[in-house]
Amino acid sequence: MKIICIGRNYADHIKELDSAKPTEPVIFLKPDTSILLKKQPFFIPEFSNDVHHEVELLVRINKIGKHIDQKFAHKYYDEIGLGIDFTARDLQAKLKKEGLPWEKAKAFDGAAVVGNFLKKEDFDDINDIDFSLKRNDKIVQKSNSMLMMWKIDALIEYVSKYFTLKIGDIIFTGTPAGVGSVKANDILTGFIGKTEMFSIKVK
Ligand code: MG
Repeated sequence: MKIICIGRNYADHIKELDSAKPTEPVIFLKPDTSILLKKQPFFIPEFSNDVHHEVELLVRINKIGKHIDQKFAHKYYDEIGLGIDFTARDLQAKLKKEGLPWEKAKAFDGAAVVGNFLKKEDFDDINDIDFSLKRNDKIVQKSNSMLMMWKIDALIEYVSKYFTLKIGDIIFTGTPAGVGSVKANDILTGFIGKTEMFSIKVK
């Protein structure tokens, strides 16, 4: 399986990082080895002093497809989840400056938290999903899928122009504002609405 991540999909996050607003979705990949194993803590890697949490809605692909039209995209997934795109922000800033790919900063072991999934039918509207992240007792990120610049079905159309989507692939749909550094002993808890989707200890 592969993990396809969307960058810069919420205007408020583009603003906080002072990034340019893209005219097309920004895409990068994480390998399957980046998935944090269930019930394991996240270890801050030794090559970074500034690992950020980025909470994101996830879409799990359940049908193989290529060149999927937006109006048929809903047939290619039936579950929505929540995860974290951990990012070594200091390393990413250096790579960006040098015009290099971001993988070292985003695709390292443990950098993808894949939490629980909910059935698509459980939602009235997938373009109106509240989600949030608590760092210890404080809500640090909170948004709604209606604020995505490219909505889920548009992302599937765009991504499938470049990559064949296979059963089990996961799309990370981008993070809203509120990203920040994690510290040892933090507990990160993600929610869709009021439902807890994951809880991760940082070490
Ligand atoms: Mg992200």
